[in-house]
Amino acid sequence: MKIKRFSYLIKSIGMVFLSLACVFGVQAKLRIVTSIFPLEEFAAAVVGERGDVSCLLPPGAEIHSWKPRPSDIVRLSGADLFIYNGAGLEPWMEDILRSLNRPRMKTLDAAAGMREFHAGHGHEGHGHGDIDPHVWLDFEYDQILVDRILDLVVELDPQGADGYRLRAAAYKAELADLDEFYRESLKSARGKTFIFGGHAAFGYLAERYGLRQMSLYGLSPNARPKPKQMAGITDFARKNNVKVIFFEQFVSPELARVIADEVGAEIRVLYPGANRTAAQVRERVSFLQLMRMNLENLCHGLIRE
Ligand SMILES: [Zn+2]
Repeated sequence: MKIKRFSYLIKSIGMVFLSLACVFGVQAKLRIVTSIFPLEEFAAAVVGERGDVSCLLPPGAEIHSWKPRPSDIVRLSGADLFIYNGAGLEPWMEDILRSLNRPRMKTLDAAAGMREFHAGHGHEGHGHGDIDPHVWLDFEYDQILVDRILDLVVELDPQGADGYRLRAAAYKAELADLDEFYRESLKSARGKTFIFGGHAAFGYLAERYGLRQMSLYGLSPNARPKPKQMAGITDFARKNNVKVIFFEQFVSPELARVIADEVGAEIRVLYPGANRTAAQVRERVSFLQLMRMNLENLCHGLIRE
């Protein structure tokens, strides 16, 4: 009899603690998983301490050729929200979502809406063929992405709404500053063209600021450029007395160096920003910082045709 009453007491205390935990909002953090680094930064900027945000892409990996491991699928199976880029950047994604079979996990396709956004800004529609997946390299579109993340996070955790809104507004202001900084800096730039020994990741950025990207690779760095293309770009570089050939982080600088040596130019890095190196992760280099470093490098290598 005594033992029974004791266990009842224990249970009651347990119930009291449970109810207190609910009242004082001691709850599990929102678990958000993203495929690439910019989306991780945007989500973390919105949720702050109330969420755990992680990125599937390990440091140093190149997104176009990376494939998830079983441990990534386990991580995804515990997520409340999965934010991916879409537009074909993660070709493995649909199979994984189907095999996870978690209809209640929320998902956000970052590139969905880019076509409309782009058309709304008076740019030529890319109605045919593949849509350029590098949507995070348009800093106005990024602000729309932050709002879309905010909406989903508020839906998942309405109690944190006020904080989420403040944090989202602060981060969007930083993106707007970045956009303005690009606009101002590039307005007075002597040239508009840059030669990029990487893949055509900077199409949206170039279009936004009136630049011309001449890249060696196409929308993905998986197919090597043809010798004819190498020769054409080298000729162009020589004729225009080009001082800088850009290479891409996570893509071999070999071809950029070949052209640079040929025409007596130097090479400088550009960061597409989908990922960071292990050292950049340790040093907590932000997406915004990567983009400012890009601008500084760009300003050294713009060509007037
Ligand atoms: Zn890319």
